[in-house]
Order: sequence, then C-alpha cells, then structure tokens
Amino acid sequence: MLGLKLFKLRGGVHPEGRKQLAAEHGIRSLPLPAELFIPLQQHIGAPATPVVKVGERVLKGQLLAAAQGAVSAPVHAPTSGTITALGDHVAPHPSGLPVPTITLTSDGAEQWLEAAGCATPLELAAEEIAAQVAAAGIVGLGGATFPAALKLNLSRNSGVQTLILNGGECEPYLTCDDRIMRERAPQIVEGIQLIARAVAADEVLVGIEDNKPQAIAAMQAAAQGSSVQVVVMPSMYPMGSEKQIIQVLTGKEIPAGGRPADIGVLVHNVATAYAVQQAIRYGRPLISRIVTVSGGAIKTACNVEALVGTPVQALIDFADGYAQPTARLVLGGPMMGQQFTHTGVPVVKGTSGVLALTASEIGQAEPSPCIRCTTCVRACPVGLLPLEMAAHIRASDLTGAVALGLKDCIACGSCSYVCPAHIPLVHYFNYAKGDLAAQERAKLKLEATKKLAEDRTARIARIERERAEAAARRKAAREAKERAAKAAAESEGAA
Ligand code: SF4
Ligand code: SF4
Repeated sequence: MLGLKLFKLRGGVHPEGRKQLAAEHGIRSLPLPAELFIPLQQHIGAPATPVVKVGERVLKGQLLAAAQGAVSAPVHAPTSGTITALGDHVAPHPSGLPVPTITLTSDGAEQWLEAAGCATPLELAAEEIAAQVAAAGIVGLGGATFPAALKLNLSRNSGVQTLILNGGECEPYLTCDDRIMRERAPQIVEGIQLIARAVAADEVLVGIEDNKPQAIAAMQAAAQGSSVQVVVMPSMYPMGSEKQIIQVLTGKEIPAGGRPADIGVLVHNVATAYAVQQAIRYGRPLISRIVTVSGGAIKTACNVEALVGTPVQALIDFADGYAQPTARLVLGGPMMGQQFTHTGVPVVKGTSGVLALTASEIGQAEPSPCIRCTTCVRACPVGLLPLEMAAHIRASDLTGAVALGLKDCIACGSCSYVCPAHIPLVHYFNYAKGDLAAQERAKLKLEATKKLAEDRTARIARIERERAEAAARRKAAREAKERAAKAAAESEGAA
C-alpha cells in the first residue's frame, strides 16, 4: 500500500549509497567451509551453554549450546560433522579478542537432523510460535541481535497495535535485505503473518526505502490479499534504525530510555521474519544468513548465504579477493558497523555485511577545531547536541554528557558524517558509553560485594547469637536439673 501517511524524520543525512556494487548480484551459497567457528555469544544477553563434547558427531541443525537464562539464545550446528574444539577463537569484535567458541569440522555430508516442521503454521497458538522461535535461536538479524522470542513475549504481554517490518536497509553498500525481499518475498510475508499472530498485532506495516523498487514490487505481490501493508519510505540515513522507522511510519516517539513496546509498537527486520518462517514451517533453526560482501577494495561484490561460523576470509575469497589495497575492513555497514582486522573472525547471526573499503572511500581527513556551525545538531535524528556532548566528554564530564542525552544517542554517526571539521563525534560517544557501562558494571560489582559482606556479617552474628542462645538454654537446663536434684536430695533427707 502506498497511500499511508508518512511522518517527517528528524535530522538524517544522505550518504552516497554505493549499493549498485552488489545490488544486482543474486544470493549465492558459499561452498561448505572445512571448519566452522561458532561463538556461544551471538546475541544480546547471556552466552549459550555447550551441550556437546569434543569428538562428538553432530547433524546439521542439532543443538550445540542451550540458552542460559531469560535473555539468551541457543546455537545449532550449521552443518554435519565432528566437534573438534571447545575453546576460545577470535570474535567479530573491534578488539579481536577471543571468545568461547565451538569448532565444528565438516564431514561434507550436510546431513540434517530430522525436523518436524508444520504444514499449517498459521494455525499455531501465539505461545507455540514464540516457543519455536526461541528454540530455533532466532535473534534480530538487522544487527541488534536481541533474542526474537523474548521480544515476541514481551510485546504480547504489553499489547501491540502496530507491527513494523524493517526493510529500510539505509546503510550504504548493504543489499542483503534488498535481495532477500526480491528473492524470498512469499516466505517473508508468511513469517510476518506468524509474528503478527504471535503478538496479536492490529496493524502490520513493512517499511522499504524507495531505492529498492524490485524489493517493493516483490513484497507487494507477495502481500496481496493479506493484511500486510508495504509502505514506501524516502531513502535517508538512518531510516532503518528502530526509533526512526517508528517515527516515520507512525508519528510516535519512543520516550527517552523507553522501548517500542511502551508505545504499542514491535519492530522486526525482514530477514528475521524469513528466519521465523523457516523455523516454523520447516523446523530449521537459524544456522545461516545473507551477507553482502562489498566495498571498493573487493573485486566482485556479491550477496551470499553463509553458514554461521564461516570465516570471513572465505567470503572475501568467494568475492575473488581484493582488487585494490584495503584501508579498512568493516563488519556491517560503514556508518554503524564494526572495524576488524583478523579475517579469521566468523560470520555470526548479526553479520549483515563484510566490507573492504579503500582509502578514498573512508576519506580520513585530519580533524580541526569545531567552528560551531551546528551542522551536527541539524543532522542528529534524535535531536541531541553532538558538539556540546563531545565537549563534555573531552572535559571528562560524563555526567554532563548524560544530562545532554548521551544514553539516547543511537551511534548512527550522522553527526560525524556531516561535520566539516571532521571531528569523530560518534567515536567520542561510543567511547563515553563504554566508560559509562564500565562504571555501571563497577558500581553493580561494588554493590554486590557490599551486599555479600553485609550478608556474611549478618550470618556470623546470627550464628554467634544462636550459639549463645543454645549455650544459655543448656546452662538453664543444667541449672534446672541441678536444682531438681538438690530439691530431691533435700526431700529425701527430710524423709
Ligand atoms: S558539525 Fe562539527 S564543526 Fe560544526 S558544530 Fe558540529 S562539531 Fe562543530
Ligand atoms: S551519533 Fe548520536 S549524536 Fe550523532 S547524530 Fe547519531 S544519534 Fe545524534
């Protein structure tokens, strides 16, 4: 549907899209890697706990590690083979530090674990849909990696008026969502209907930027006759971020520190809807995802379906390697993605892109002093004052930066992108948020330690009190006994 009223996005920028590098390359499957490195933590929340041992043979789709606690997600075997290690491996994180990882050596057979699936998924109860989504290890594939089932349950409990499917894909270079919508629209629409059923949504909107005409046409055709409405949005960065897509499609704003559920909205990515459909109709857990391999340094940009755990180097090789010297490697998009250096890092559930960018693409100009032009203020989609927040952070005044809304910053990088002085504003904000998180962790640790010490003191006092009370009781009993004996002796003497 094209007629829905759109609301204006505050701020935003128009970076060069560079999507043409990969957009016309259909999704291709990567050759099966010899070894897969599957991190236990691929989602927001607690890492999964391994349920397999080294030397064990596993089938494709078999559970490798179970969710641990309320906010967590399980991980499954992306292929059949043998578990050859349970240990640390480099992670898709800027630090490149190793994280607990399961190594699976493929047997080349791609032998699936027998799965039940469901021929009539749209008849399932809401709770059953959420339970199957949880068991399949589905997380937000737009990059947030929040466990999808938890979002479904929280939203069902708080009530959802509007379900939004995010097909914005506003980050330059990335075309994985564009391609999945073009090529797998009927499955996505069924996944959307399952999510809508799981949360009893009144209204279902799919927001797609106007630079994806084929995806729009495919989704409109697939949604025909259903209650799913495809809405065309103007191309602007960061249209695809959660707060902004809600604002544009509904006119509602998430209150500071709040969640979409607070205003009756649930947002999922279109690729997440596809994963939901695959899990429920075919019983297939989330073991692969579509990844865009692009950037000026890549020889043949492409979109690939990669198994979770595939080393990024295999994707670069599949794209025929490098055509030019690489100045920066990025996982995700160039605006919000993570830089990395080690191409042995594995594809994880949240990996939307692998970019190799040239020096001219990243344009690393030296920063100069702020000229107080306020361009960054106009670009900020959240309505913050980036120049003032950065000044407070530079002066080590985190409290002042928080008072100016640091916690509401979505780290979109729009301010840095437009700054004529090339000040890396978003780096300040990410650094400060890291500092804040560390301070909060330290505070929690201190509180926990204090509580432990208080509990210990109280326990010792209780034990001493109980000992003293027992001794007093024993003494009283002894004295009573002595008194009774004395009284008996006296009465015997008197007799
Ligand atoms: S855009 Fe850059 S130069 Fe202009 S006010 Fe903001 S920080 Fe200063
Ligand atoms: S990075 Fe933060 S401060 Fe800068 S434009 Fe985005 S939301 Fe605003």
